[in-house]
Amino acid sequence: MRLKLAKKVGFCFGVRRAVEMAEEVLKKEGKAYSLGSIIHNKQVVEGLSERGLEVIKSIDEADSGVLVISSHGISPDVAGEISKRSLKLVDTTCPFVRNAQSSARSLGEEGYMVIIVGDVNHPEVKALYDFAGKKAHVVKDAKGLKALKLKPGERIGILSQTTQSMDNFLGVVRAIIDAKPEDLRVFNTICKDAQVRQAAARDISREVDLMLVVGGKNSANTKRLFEVCKKILRRSYLVETELDLRSQWFKDVSVVGITSGASTPETIVRRVARVIKNELKTKSIRLRR
Ligand code: SF4
Repeated sequence: MRLKLAKKVGFCFGVRRAVEMAEEVLKKEGKAYSLGSIIHNKQVVEGLSERGLEVIKSIDEADSGVLVISSHGISPDVAGEISKRSLKLVDTTCPFVRNAQSSARSLGEEGYMVIIVGDVNHPEVKALYDFAGKKAHVVKDAKGLKALKLKPGERIGILSQTTQSMDNFLGVVRAIIDAKPEDLRVFNTICKDAQVRQAAARDISREVDLMLVVGGKNSANTKRLFEVCKKILRRSYLVETELDLRSQWFKDVSVVGITSGASTPETIVRRVARVIKNELKTKSIRLRR
């Protein structure tokens, strides 16, 4: 049995930057608040919490002190509320997310109906929706457009949550073209990192017998990678850590592929790989069933 590890595993640029900024704050201040989880990875959030980063659900829970904003960004309304309090803001919004926000804002200001392709409950999408203004809609995929009842002659702008799959995004673009808008502006706001990981996951899934995607079960980009792998290879599994590995998965497997979401620390990926290698050396899969 061999292991095939994706070239790009561990944190993406935006997540690494957010975690480093939070660590810097904790070094200086000793404690700080984070509005929602700073990244979608339970192990990292727990580690930062032990060092003084307290996760709050609403800014009403923090009147003073330091408030760290996650790489997913916040809406203009929340930013306005924060500015009314005596909070020191540390904004780790990823520059690529910021770019998507400014596309949403400019389309909204120019009067376009703004269609955002993404997960309506994700914090990044909620903020993008607010940036886009009153004529904004969020759709998960091309089927989601039906509810909008698009008529010919509309002026439509479309952009994407940064971690969406390109195929899904293009599917929505094609469906909008079919609706014959008068004017269509397309902003490809899918992050390069997400595209590279998805393409690599697709390639590896075709070459292995078992595919493991390491990452948070609450992480949008990890879930997307898992969907990409699962479409190609039924024996694909999402694991948060090595503790999620199960012995029965490895029956009759010659090659195992491993990839990770953008918010998964490389140390966890290496641990998963090490546990599998050690099990193989002793030829006894002692993992939990
Ligand atoms: S996946 Fe891309 S957009 Fe999201 S935080 Fe990472 S670098 Fe930024």
